[in-house]
Amino acid sequence: ITGLGGTLGGALALIILLLQRKRLSLGARLAQALDKRRLTVVYQPIFDIGTNTPRSAEALVRWVDGKEAIPPDIFIPVAEDEGLIKRVTLSVLDRVLADMTAFLQADRTFRININISAADLIDPAFASALEQRLRQANVRSEQLGLEITERSTANAAAAVDAIRTLRARGHRIYIDDFGTGYSSLAYLGNLNVDGIKIDKSFTQTIGTGSVTVSIVPQIVDMARVLNLGIVVEGIETATQRDYFAGLQTPIDGQGWFYGKPVSAAAMQELVQEKF
Ligand code: C2E
Ligand code: CA
Ligand code: CA
Ligand code: CA
Repeated sequence: ITGLGGTLGGALALIILLLQRKRLSLGARLAQALDKRRLTVVYQPIFDIGTNTPRSAEALVRWVDGKEAIPPDIFIPVAEDEGLIKRVTLSVLDRVLADMTAFLQADRTFRININISAADLIDPAFASALEQRLRQANVRSEQLGLEITERSTANAAAAVDAIRTLRARGHRIYIDDFGTGYSSLAYLGNLNVDGIKIDKSFTQTIGTGSVTVSIVPQIVDMARVLNLGIVVEGIETATQRDYFAGLQTPIDGQGWFYGKPVSAAAMQELVQEKF
């Protein structure tokens, strides 16, 4: 009897320990936040560098748990590891589509990009869920761009297929954080995307005399040869803006110099005033 009691007690202690662990893990907290629809979205404008006019915006997810703001760089990898990323993507999408009505009233040509992960890209159900939601929200696929990382194209065959399908439906596809991965010119040609977003690590070296800068004109040339759109990330200063303006090719820019990510209401005002 005592032996059995001890075993039961041990099992109970283990269960309590597991429950506590679960309560504390970031993944479990995120699952809860998803259930309660606690994730929100902010919007950062993207400008045409040459004409200094806003063209579109990127949606960025935000999570405040109690009083703690948990940055996406922390929780997105957790979501990817713990099978929650598809729910995160769909909750961002729902938010964006709900906000889109107001943006489109301010400017009916307004476009927005969302970030998607590898798991979304190669999931055939994602493309259908996307189209269904767009139809319900009365938003055209041309108005919703998708940013994917080089990493998410590692499964090349599946990625190429998925990109073809999504582009055929009208979505623009951008390779995010370009230059931080392994993409070569040939590789980019095969992927058949609409554009690249040059990673902010390149922008940050401008004006510092770093050799990394010397690669930037080559990336821009390559993109031009491949007929790809170019967006430069992380433009914080006029010096950085001037550098890219000086490359004499159409380039879009995004960064604090143009505007930090803002709420949907603030974005709507911006669209009304400037777009
Ligand atoms: P990202 O897609 O490369 O997004 C750009 C990040 O740079 C954002 O950080 C943005 O706030 C920040 N940023 C913008 N302008 C500047 C600037 O001038 N200087 C500097 N230093 N930073 C700037 P954020 O919002 O913290 O997002 C971090 C990353 O988390 C994103 O990088 C993206 O990889 C991921 N992420 C964000 N939202 C989502 C989402 O809805 N879904 C997925 N799958 N990933 C997301
Ligand atoms: Ca992005
Ligand atoms: Ca990026
Ligand atoms: Ca990034």
